[in-house]
Amino acid sequence: MRSISILGATGSIGASTLDLIRRNRGEWRVVALTAHGNAQSLAALAREFDAEIAVCADEAALPALREALVGTGIEAAAGPQALVEAAARPVDLTMAAIVGCAGLAPTMAAIEQGRTVALANKEALVSAGEVMMAAVAKHGTTLLPVDSEHNAIFQCLSGNKVDHVRWITLTASGGPFRDWSLEQLQAATPAQAIKHPNWSMGAKISVDSASMMNKGLEFIEAYHLFPVGLDRLRIIVHPQSIIHSMVEYRDGSTLAQLGPSDMRVPIASCLAWPERMETPLAAQLDLAAIGQLTFRAPDETLFPATRLAREAARAGGCIPAVLNAANEVAVAAFLAGRIGFTRISALVEEVLSSYAPPPASSLGDVLAVDLEARKRAQILPEVA
Ligand code: NAD
Ligand code: MG
Repeated sequence: MRSISILGATGSIGASTLDLIRRNRGEWRVVALTAHGNAQSLAALAREFDAEIAVCADEAALPALREALVGTGIEAAAGPQALVEAAARPVDLTMAAIVGCAGLAPTMAAIEQGRTVALANKEALVSAGEVMMAAVAKHGTTLLPVDSEHNAIFQCLSGNKVDHVRWITLTASGGPFRDWSLEQLQAATPAQAIKHPNWSMGAKISVDSASMMNKGLEFIEAYHLFPVGLDRLRIIVHPQSIIHSMVEYRDGSTLAQLGPSDMRVPIASCLAWPERMETPLAAQLDLAAIGQLTFRAPDETLFPATRLAREAARAGGCIPAVLNAANEVAVAAFLAGRIGFTRISALVEEVLSSYAPPPASSLGDVLAVDLEARKRAQILPEVA
């Protein structure tokens, strides 16, 4: 039996992870389950999986969480510190699936255990880059990428040497707006942005996918996870989302990982690694039915986010933390109907040019930069 904690248990990745655990109930002991503020959903999961502790990040949710867990023997806690403490409880595997830089401190606490962390929370790695990878090295932690592209690359690199890599190619679906004109993009609504053609995901990553910032964040994520250098990383649009990414070696061989657009595939790869487990997929990969796989270069004029991310990665230090924080504020403003869709990337670019953050050598430094970048994003005008 292995022990697991799931940070962000009530989200899309959390639900897919728990779906796999539910089908292999006897193999797992659930330690901590966490959520933002939805005490009822979290308590229901904690009861079902007989968790040791349930934690809401939002302190105001504590009375409801306690009430919902009365008589179960499951501990209830709330607040940012409780979240970090729960993430630090020893487990064989932590699924880090909180959305945004809010997941950084608990993810770092899980990394500091020196066990295995399955990382879905890309914003944490984008923001803390060097600081997080230094902690992974220091504590001897195994970091398994959950993001489908990075999980694909991880699999394609297995048994090979990073020194022999010529290219790592991240595939991008292009999102729901990949064929839209500038005029259409300017009028895009939140409902249209969160309706992804291939994947079912949380709201924030769906908007990132529509703006291509998701691929920008993934570019920075790949830069940290796979040390091949920025000049060996590239992005290609592949609307069918069947090839999840590719690695080309210096002898001209390209390895790709293919699969249906179901996050349970990369999650299962992390849960079972280095073994393989069965997944309950609605449909298996049927290439004859798909017929064609197509590819095209990204359009960075209409979708500037990947350019901004590449520039931020090249600038290094805390610049990616600024990019991420500004994007989080902009996406929230777009979802709330306060700014238009094309304003998201414009706002990120303005914050990047207004703020030269100090270098970071600790988690506290990164969080300070994140906070400052958020403040700057919030005071910028809402319309271009
Ligand atoms: P989601 O919005 O569905 O779920 C987010 C989870 O984090 C929920 O449990 C929520 O309660 C919790 N949370 C939200 N704000 C919080 C806060 N301030 N403090 C503590 N907890 C908070 O998101 P998701 O789609 O599951 O994505 C989670 C992460 O995984 C993101 O970083 C995303 O980029 C990444 N990811 C998701 C997918 C996908 O298919 N959904 C694919 C690849 C990567
Ligand atoms: Mg991805």
